[in-house]
Amino acid sequence: MHTETLALPTATPGTQRTLTVQRFGTRGARPCVYLQASLHADEIPAMLVADKLRRILVELEAQGRIVGEVILVPVANPIGLAQSVMGEPVGRFDLADGRNFNRDYAYLTEAVAERVADRLGADEAANAAAIRAALAEALAERKPQTATEHLKHALLGLAVQADYVLDLHCDNEAVMHLYTLTPSAEAFAPLQRLLGAQAVFLATNSGGDPFDEAGSRPWNELRERWPDKAIPFGCHSVTVELRGQADVEHGVAEADAQAIAGFLVHAGVVTGEPPALPDALCAPTPLESVEPLTAPVGGVLVFHRRVGERVEVGEVVADVVNPVDGTVAPIRTESAGLLFARIATRFVAPGGRVAKVAGTALRRTGPLLSA
Ligand SMILES: [Zn+2]
Repeated sequence: MHTETLALPTATPGTQRTLTVQRFGTRGARPCVYLQASLHADEIPAMLVADKLRRILVELEAQGRIVGEVILVPVANPIGLAQSVMGEPVGRFDLADGRNFNRDYAYLTEAVAERVADRLGADEAANAAAIRAALAEALAERKPQTATEHLKHALLGLAVQADYVLDLHCDNEAVMHLYTLTPSAEAFAPLQRLLGAQAVFLATNSGGDPFDEAGSRPWNELRERWPDKAIPFGCHSVTVELRGQADVEHGVAEADAQAIAGFLVHAGVVTGEPPALPDALCAPTPLESVEPLTAPVGGVLVFHRRVGERVEVGEVVADVVNPVDGTVAPIRTESAGLLFARIATRFVAPGGRVAKVAGTALRRTGPLLSA
């Protein structure tokens, strides 16, 4: 393992903040897999999985089995991890400006297209190299200003050169699920099966420019723009939702890390016999088919159903109880499907999202991600 410490500019003169990058295998070798944990800094399961995975990678490297390169950032958001308000961790939004740490990543398609338009030919490998060089140039032209912009810039700079990107998150309370670009579903089918994902959501542009899509969308969009050019899909990227925030256990994290290590064999970055793939627990579905359930009124939230349960159309998933006048407002589903996530707090404001159902009907338009 080779450890790099990247300096991150801070707003306060005389203070320091760093990002730790752990590299395995041969620098620059392919395939390259980039993994980061807890970009939303209060999503702790990811960091424990990163710890377990690092131990596995050290062992694999000692055995000479890493033929490509694996890049691991076990604490992707040192800014968010240091944030709290009166004892409560705040890891999803930057307290400096309220912005989500997993939104507003650089959209590089146009800048890359301008650079490579006259340079693409019939050679896939040469085209991939040209696009990667253009991605690096386009990113280098951007001038981050705030501390968080510098962090996002550094993370994307590492990821954008990789063949595979795994961004490790979790939901409030949830079962294992994945988000990826529609054309990457097949590339991540082994990961889906090894992790036992119960839902996989697909989109080509979910809105909000999340981290994972910043790496993968340029390839998809360049391929669509120039279908006659030999452009490979150079970066498959996935957001892995490692269940809920409180699902932090040694055994579970070890199994998840082993699943990811198994995926690395399937992806060709680690040599050896690929582990057998368990049956898929679900078929990938469009992100538009997710139904967010919202509270009609404010009050005490009482769930009737747990994550991982199947619900029918019109089923009452939760009640909102007004403790003053005793009224009870039921929250019903409009779609049948898997109740895959719910919030962890038990008091809601009117209009607040309380849970999500993985349905099958395409029901949503506009930005597909929550704030
Ligand atoms: Zn997250």
